[in-house]
Amino acid sequence: MSEYAKNFVAQVKAKNPNEPEFHQAVEEVVESLSLVLDRYPEYRSAKILERIVEPERVIMFRVPWMDDQGEIHVNRGFRIQMNSAIGPYKGGLRFHPSVNLGILKFLAFEQVFKNSLTTLPMGGAKGGSDFDPKGKSDNEVMHFCQSFMNELFRHIGPDTDVPAGDIGVGGREIGFLFGHYRRLRNEFTGVLTGKGLNWGGSLIRPQATGYGAVYFASEMLKARRESLEGKNCLVSGSGNVAQYTVEKINQLGGRVVTLSDSNGYIYDEEGIDKKKLDFLMELKNVKRGRIKEYADKYPKAVYTPIDPKQDFNPLWNHKAHCAFPSATQNEINGKDAQNLLKNGIYVVAEGANMPTTLDGVKVFLDAKILYGPGKAANAGGVATSGLEMAQNSMRLPWTRDEVDNRLHLIMKDIHKTCVETAERFGTPGNYVNGANIGGFLKVADAMMDQGLV
Ligand code: NAP
Repeated sequence: MSEYAKNFVAQVKAKNPNEPEFHQAVEEVVESLSLVLDRYPEYRSAKILERIVEPERVIMFRVPWMDDQGEIHVNRGFRIQMNSAIGPYKGGLRFHPSVNLGILKFLAFEQVFKNSLTTLPMGGAKGGSDFDPKGKSDNEVMHFCQSFMNELFRHIGPDTDVPAGDIGVGGREIGFLFGHYRRLRNEFTGVLTGKGLNWGGSLIRPQATGYGAVYFASEMLKARRESLEGKNCLVSGSGNVAQYTVEKINQLGGRVVTLSDSNGYIYDEEGIDKKKLDFLMELKNVKRGRIKEYADKYPKAVYTPIDPKQDFNPLWNHKAHCAFPSATQNEINGKDAQNLLKNGIYVVAEGANMPTTLDGVKVFLDAKILYGPGKAANAGGVATSGLEMAQNSMRLPWTRDEVDNRLHLIMKDIHKTCVETAERFGTPGNYVNGANIGGFLKVADAMMDQGLV
């Protein structure tokens, strides 16, 4: 990293204390951007980097709600509107007890580059709450969502900011949020994506992030004249992204042997076929159960609970060809990355956002494996949200094939941008530089064009 970049990262850390995930996301991007700033000093004199790490707006608010027993709870709500130079703010809402300002700033920052890579006109944002939907009744979730929207509605709109789902926010939550927005504003608009099919949603949106990550992995393999056919895959998580990652890997002839949740993981050597995946989807999306119950149903699968004393995740310590981290940030550390290499993994496509620590990223880059960072590999979700916005604006729905084909084309395009940009800046095969620089250039040029705003 150049002296300028090092000083810049130090300043960001000093100015944003206690936000380690935000520091990590900035450090990774700035390392790539050193290559651009050396070649194009005009970005440096226009202070593009200094501007791009500062959110355009941060909204933080109280969310009071009442549970089924009549007890009052108070959560914290957030919306980080990071950058709108190339389009309205766009990015998911996360409901999870770990949510705080630093985590949402890292996610909003990454979203700016990811949305730019999709080729669609979308700025970057992220939001959410430290509310935990686990163990809550539908009624409690609805009351929470309504209280959350009582404040958020002032700050969003189809041409201003269009939130979507993320961890803990799926079809149920988007329904409650949309219903309340419609009531408050007395208008039916495409203000959220991930909507139900009968009320403005798009076919393939639920599948899009998982499918997109697998399309991206296939593109990386294709560049080496290989495919997913016959490949063994490790997948983490068992939510939206993980489920459709498994479905698409199965369709393309691969085999998935692991899945997890925040309590532990299962290893199913025989592979998670369509029937088992149907069971998992019912378990997670309807019964809202735990991954352990998969091993109760299929006793040949081995369940291992999380051991907080271990400094590595045993899920990443099985023989396979590909890994699709699809749970959460920092789930692969340096040791896990070494274990993956040791076990023969040479394709990593990140369905989750920033699932690999900086140490882990270095291990993958040094080994020159096919490493697709989240900004590129999981961009299919927001890209299809962009397609949902396009359909809402036209008031015309597209068919399943039409949306899936467009998603597939977008993922190919993102792959091409990463490969070409990495080459252009002298680091062929480095998808991290390709994604960071490819995403940056479009936003930076728009900021230059639009003056000091
Ligand atoms: P989800 O449906 O809520 O599923 C999240 C999964 O990850 C669950 O299995 C959850 O287990 C597990 N998990 C969450 N936090 C965890 C933690 N701290 N430790 C261990 N496991 C944890 O969410 P999702 O939409 O699949 O999102 C997964 C990842 O993909 C996130 O990084 C998200 O930002 C990213 N992503 C999502 C989309 C999208 O369209 N949904 C798009 C791009 C990127 P529990 O049930 O036990 O919590």
